[in-house]
Amino acid sequence: MKPALTQFGNQMSHLSGVRAVMKDIVEAARAGKEFINLSAGNPVILPEVEQMWRDCTAKLLSSAEYGEVVCRYGASQGYRPLIEAVLNDFNGRFGLNLSDRNILITPGSQSLYFYAANALGGYTAEGELKQMVLPLSPDYTGYGGISLTPEAVKAYKPAIEMDEKGHWFKYRPDFNQLEINEKTGFVLFSRPCNPTGNVLSDDEVKRIAAMASTYNVPVLVDSAYAPPFPSLNFTEMTPIFGDNIVHCTSLSKAGLPGERLGIALGDEQVIQALESFQTNLCLHSSRYGQAIAAHAIRSGALADISTRVIRPYYQAKFAVLESALQDVMPDVPWFLHRGEGSIFGWLWLQDLPITDWEFYELLKQKGVLVVPGSPFFPGIREDWSHTRQCFRISLTASDQELVTAMRQLAEVTEQTCRQSNSQTTERVADLVAG
Ligand code: PLP
Repeated sequence: MKPALTQFGNQMSHLSGVRAVMKDIVEAARAGKEFINLSAGNPVILPEVEQMWRDCTAKLLSSAEYGEVVCRYGASQGYRPLIEAVLNDFNGRFGLNLSDRNILITPGSQSLYFYAANALGGYTAEGELKQMVLPLSPDYTGYGGISLTPEAVKAYKPAIEMDEKGHWFKYRPDFNQLEINEKTGFVLFSRPCNPTGNVLSDDEVKRIAAMASTYNVPVLVDSAYAPPFPSLNFTEMTPIFGDNIVHCTSLSKAGLPGERLGIALGDEQVIQALESFQTNLCLHSSRYGQAIAAHAIRSGALADISTRVIRPYYQAKFAVLESALQDVMPDVPWFLHRGEGSIFGWLWLQDLPITDWEFYELLKQKGVLVVPGSPFFPGIREDWSHTRQCFRISLTASDQELVTAMRQLAEVTEQTCRQSNSQTTERVADLVAG
């Protein structure tokens, strides 16, 4: 039966952004071919991290709280011991004065952005369109599917800092272009950023928050990779708090993606609106995950393992990626984004004469999967060639796989970028067809 879908039904039943690539990847893998998969957004299962969650689970299983946790519904806002553990941790660590009115636990942080996109962005009762502003594009592809009012999503192109000889570049917010005003519903960005690994500086965050504060606009800082857990920053950064800042984090990159846990910390009235949204949608997040997270945060084990195990693991992988590229890339303008955090590298092939999707297909034929960059530019409406010249490379593979994959990527780059555009286009059409 093909049901008649509503406008929202139609929109939400389509895979957005990178999920469409993932479907292609799953199908390619099912066809039986072996790939070096550098497309994964799933974190690596690090034995010490897994053991920590196992220990927390054992504690939960042997405690009197078990029945209360899994056999009963709970409060929408979250499980009380987790709320207390997070508040104690953040208040102590960052000198804050957050109370239980400033926190919401959600089933993963993706859901949190869905609530915000539709509670703070879209049409007001007066018919006025409130924008969801992404101040620094590219950014997390998942922001592309969260608004039921896609016309509300507005992203800004960055300023680009680059070093031609060193083969690196870095995005910066372009404050000459960025507009935050009475049309803005809320501002959202990831810090550290998926896909680029960029970390906005403390001053850049404060400047964006100040611009938004003038118009009473909330700024959601997606801290899925930030300290204190999972601490996937490779450069100094301080989480910034303030009246209009909602600090949003997630336990997914700290080894618990299956349990779906997101945390929002911010202004009482914003939190209240998001909490009601959650009650209507799904009541609350899984209490099992919340209970083991309470143990891991209260004991300090999660923050400790983040800096001692999780961060060094991915930071070392970024170094492998960077040196592999330096060793094998041909003499064409290629640039790796500064590796300031996250679990990805972001590569820009400036003179790529084919699209990122065509390049992805060619590399797939060589047994390597990366993610084409174009799905990471939600909210950019103009035609901008840069969106078709970038690739996200996951740092979840082994060192050897990363090195082998970069050799293949260099060969495809050589094939495509070193030939004249017209020749290349014909050759690539042949290669893709074959
Ligand atoms: N934000 C960023 C920047 C991400 O990379 C991800 C997942 O990869 C999410 C949010 C969603 O994470 P979750 O819903 O698992 O908390």
